[in-house]
Amino acid sequence: MATNKFLLTFAICRLIVTVGLTVDPTELLRLGVDGQLSFDPADVERASLDFGFMNQAKPLAVLHPASAEDVARLVKAAYGSAHGLSVSARGHGHSINGQAQTTNGVVIEMSGWRRKAAAAAAQPEEEVEDASRPRVWEKERYVDVWGGELWIEVLRETLKHGLAPKSWTDYLYLSIGGTLSNAGISGQTFNHGPQISNVHELDVVTGKGELLTCSEEKNSELFHAVLGGLGQFGIITRARIAIEPAPQRVRWIRVLYSNFSAFTKDQEFLISLHGQPAPQRFDYVEGFVIVDEGLINNWRSSFFSPRNPVKLSSINADGGVLYCLEITKNYDESTAETIDQEIEALLKKLDFIPTSVFTTDLPYVDFLDRVHKAELKLRSKGLWDVPHPWFNIFVPKSRISDFDKGVFKSILGNKTSGPILIYPMNKAKWDQRSSVVTPDEDVFYLVALLRSALDNGDETHSLEYLKHQNRQILRFCAEAGIKAKQYLPHYATQEEWVDHFGDKWAQFHKRKMEFDPRHILATGQRIFHPPS
Ligand code: FAD
Repeated sequence: MATNKFLLTFAICRLIVTVGLTVDPTELLRLGVDGQLSFDPADVERASLDFGFMNQAKPLAVLHPASAEDVARLVKAAYGSAHGLSVSARGHGHSINGQAQTTNGVVIEMSGWRRKAAAAAAQPEEEVEDASRPRVWEKERYVDVWGGELWIEVLRETLKHGLAPKSWTDYLYLSIGGTLSNAGISGQTFNHGPQISNVHELDVVTGKGELLTCSEEKNSELFHAVLGGLGQFGIITRARIAIEPAPQRVRWIRVLYSNFSAFTKDQEFLISLHGQPAPQRFDYVEGFVIVDEGLINNWRSSFFSPRNPVKLSSINADGGVLYCLEITKNYDESTAETIDQEIEALLKKLDFIPTSVFTTDLPYVDFLDRVHKAELKLRSKGLWDVPHPWFNIFVPKSRISDFDKGVFKSILGNKTSGPILIYPMNKAKWDQRSSVVTPDEDVFYLVALLRSALDNGDETHSLEYLKHQNRQILRFCAEAGIKAKQYLPHYATQEEWVDHFGDKWAQFHKRKMEFDPRHILATGQRIFHPPS
């Protein structure tokens, strides 16, 4: 114990000398947390980076909390600090632009406490006694989860009861708090709404260090503020998430289009079936754009090859671009008999290229966890930890064909450098009281350019080139009067943020003044001036 204290004091003294802290470091030492306050360079380095691999910002220290009370202790200390200490929750660090980073403050590593505790006790992770494990309420059909828990863990735990959350992201190694601070979207969103529409209750540590429970009925202003709130109003320590009986298997289908309006007409038809009995609709509707040999290079799945080869040259693409509709139907072995007829009846109503139906069948877990398989492949080739200038934008339905002409068939040329997703959603499934901003139309599309920058001598793969294209797309939308909104937004100035929030800015600002008046939280979003 004495040695630990000595090491800590030594590390802090070194920090004071090397970085010239404005913070009185003894404030941090006095916290007395049950978890671990770490000055270990490896922890600091990890917290200074994210999936974007484009910005680095080193915090003063990293807190591995053992409880919500630890989180509250730190935030309360920062709130009372005379030194402008900031606090950023970090989920799994899968942001692109430093949203979970901070320099003059502490990063709270919300995920991974179990891993840390297991390593310290030299025990397997599954055996660590841990009050933060997901708790499933079978009869009530919800699960209580720690804010730093990863969705993959929630899935594993709920499946033990034959249940699973309703609304997903495409990738499950993201934290509950991280996706609920944005929205959390995937092909189920048209039917169930984003993940933020599937939350019953939250425990939140506000920017004043108070630990509050909130829901539609209780502290409702905080509840709505935090959902889609970009971490600005509080740190989610617990979420109560809606669950349903989990299907056993998934029929996963892809069909191709060469005509953009036929493609979007069918996508819009399919999402209009939300709320219909399950046999009469698909469970998941997404799609992607193929502007080059992307089918083969699409890292998100090897669906088309080698057993399902696609001869792109045999398909007459519209302006060199093809569109792929991706749909699934969930089923149980007991209902397997009717699944073929149900799918057949739905496919008959669509207008895709008849020879282009690609089908596969797999367990529900494997479908939900599909992107992780692609991650492992990329990691093995050293292609995961590279810069990711990802760009996500919501485009109103009325202008999606202008977007197609101006972006897919013009700005992007014939190179993609990664998957380009496109799928529509129903605004009615989004709660307008939350903090998230979407276009002002009943139906809007997500367009996601999930591109990796490579230093391979080809200018069109370079980080600068891809970032420039992202800016070109934003400029194109502004000049064409397309009222698009960034998803997972990133801006450099408050003026741009005010523009992003539009009518919602006044409310967003008011909520900030109420719940984090000293601007302590999530300063990496660069919305409000950090504390001084
Ligand atoms: P972090 O990057 O750690 O944090 C994001 C923000 O949330 C930060 O501002 C942070 O301070 C704040 N925050 C983190 N935890 C908390 C908390 N407990 N309480 C309050 N604030 C908190 N998004 C989708 O919607 N759908 C997808 O299909 C999808 N797929 C993705 C696939 C990959 C490979 C990647 C890298 C990202 C994907 N995303 C997707 C985006 C993802 O949802 C966001 O980047 C999300 O923020 C990542 O979660 P995280 O836990 O890593 O958050």
